[in-house]
Amino acid sequence: MKFSQFFIPTTKEAPKDASLPSHQFLVRGGFVNQVSAGIYNYLPMGKIVLEKIKKVIKEELDAAGCFEVELGFVTPSELWRESGRYEKYGKELLRIKDRKEMEFVLGPTHEEMMVELVKNRVTSYKNLPINLYQIKLKFRDEARPRFGLLRGREFLMKDGYSFHSNTEDMKREFGLMEETYKKIFRRLGLEFKIVEADSGAIGGTGSKEFMVLADSGEDTIVACKSCDYGANIEAAKRVKRKIENKKAFDYAKVATPNIKTIEEVSEFFGIQPSQTIKAIIKKALYDDGSEIVVFFLRGDDTLEETKACNSIKANEITDASEEEIALAGLFAGFVGPIGINVKSVIDNELIGETNMICGANEIDAHLSGVSLASIDSVFDDLVEVEAGDICTCCANELYHTKGIEVGHIFQLGTRYSEPLKANFLDENGKSKPFVMGTYGIGVSRLLSAIIEQHHDEKGCIWTKETAPFAVDIIVSNAKNENELSAGSKLHKELNNMKISAILDDRKNERFGFKIGDFELIGFNYAIIIGKKFENDIVEIVRRDTLEKIEVPYKEAVATILELMD
Ligand code: ATP
Ligand code: MG
Repeated sequence: MKFSQFFIPTTKEAPKDASLPSHQFLVRGGFVNQVSAGIYNYLPMGKIVLEKIKKVIKEELDAAGCFEVELGFVTPSELWRESGRYEKYGKELLRIKDRKEMEFVLGPTHEEMMVELVKNRVTSYKNLPINLYQIKLKFRDEARPRFGLLRGREFLMKDGYSFHSNTEDMKREFGLMEETYKKIFRRLGLEFKIVEADSGAIGGTGSKEFMVLADSGEDTIVACKSCDYGANIEAAKRVKRKIENKKAFDYAKVATPNIKTIEEVSEFFGIQPSQTIKAIIKKALYDDGSEIVVFFLRGDDTLEETKACNSIKANEITDASEEEIALAGLFAGFVGPIGINVKSVIDNELIGETNMICGANEIDAHLSGVSLASIDSVFDDLVEVEAGDICTCCANELYHTKGIEVGHIFQLGTRYSEPLKANFLDENGKSKPFVMGTYGIGVSRLLSAIIEQHHDEKGCIWTKETAPFAVDIIVSNAKNENELSAGSKLHKELNNMKISAILDDRKNERFGFKIGDFELIGFNYAIIIGKKFENDIVEIVRRDTLEKIEVPYKEAVATILELMD
């Protein structure tokens, strides 16, 4: 491939809204361009990288016994109604109608479609297990598409679905997919962490996410300083905190005029915030309406919203307005778990807790000396795990870090096969729903994730398996026939050895511009044929460290081979 014939529109300008390096460099390097919010075109360079990533994914999945299929992008809404997701999915689902008024959904994920494909085609346990995948466009009408390819509306996902006759076999496949994903992300040159994830309202047990570690990641990960434990903050666990030095109080109602916040209450009673119970009032949204829910936790803890949402099986929770709070009969600042008339959930760490201070559910009053030992209420895990909390696996300290979710594997069970009536006959001729697993990779997101982890202030630093070309042969002055033919010769040699190389043979660009493009685009190596070529010397530059070495022209290819090893 020659630069002079290629379409690589690099620019100095980054889009105004591009705050992340990956967003800036992918646009500036001529990999992608934005069409509309969260919708991107791939230019030739971007398409080459995309195909390289797809190739790695496909090779590893095929080696693990998965089969590639390709399903329709426009999916009948009927299927979504049957699975119960038509309403649940909310506004992210883009619904369209055809000329006959038939309703369709642009596929945001393909569980329903894949179950429909397998249903009535695989009918016996003898044909199980089976693992089918596709690498396919998805559409989610995300509320805040941003960060370039990291959160698009139209994006490319690898989605795989496995079908089994029993849970044990599904768990075996889940383990195999975990290992396969590790191979994929390692080959792509990523530093990642596998973390326990929230399984959402769908339920199910095991769910793990593959997080690329990067400061710009949208997900917060809780990890252990000592052992391998890692979890998305939405699912993280900690050892129950020990509260010491509690002050003793009799059970009593105490007048607390205008004393509302945890700080005010703590100061008023002369206690630590951990001896108070905090009430967080939210509005929960369900398929068929909404209600006010109060979550109670220790005064110095923070509510983890995903956990809160799961505890009441809501689709979403939002802040409640002052009117809604008043309408529910609650007095903000004075809400407590004793005698409350509104749906509530108490954090697990308060189970059996005694001698606490909480709101009295009347204006300007709190209760002291409160015991939750015999309260008839729902308890669940609601707390956000903090840095410094204690690991449940090894009793060492936990810390927070940031990650980009690039993969998610999920033990689904019969969540989709049951409502969609996708059954098979078992050994005894009994009809049963398939036990399923589902496995996703954010393929287009990976382009950004790789650059978030591998860049410097000059541009992209593609990894070995993802670089659009391994070598950029820069002919400093392409008007000089000698230099140009030396470059062409190297180009041919590398191509013959199946080392992907691009020849920068542009006659009208200066050397500085060419090296700038090399650094911005991020090929692994450059071979520079410049002034010293008179003395038979060329320069080799590593893009990752920008180290330069001079070698005789004849040794250039051998040196590249050595470096690539
Ligand atoms: P997120 O939490 O980032 O919104 P998700 O959990 O909703 O993602 P999944 O349904 O698990 O996503 O989809 C599988 C994979 O697809 C994710 O792990 C992620 O890498 C990728 N993905 C999801 N949403 C987007 C998006 N809007 N743009 C690009 N990639 C995405
Ligand atoms: Mg996910």
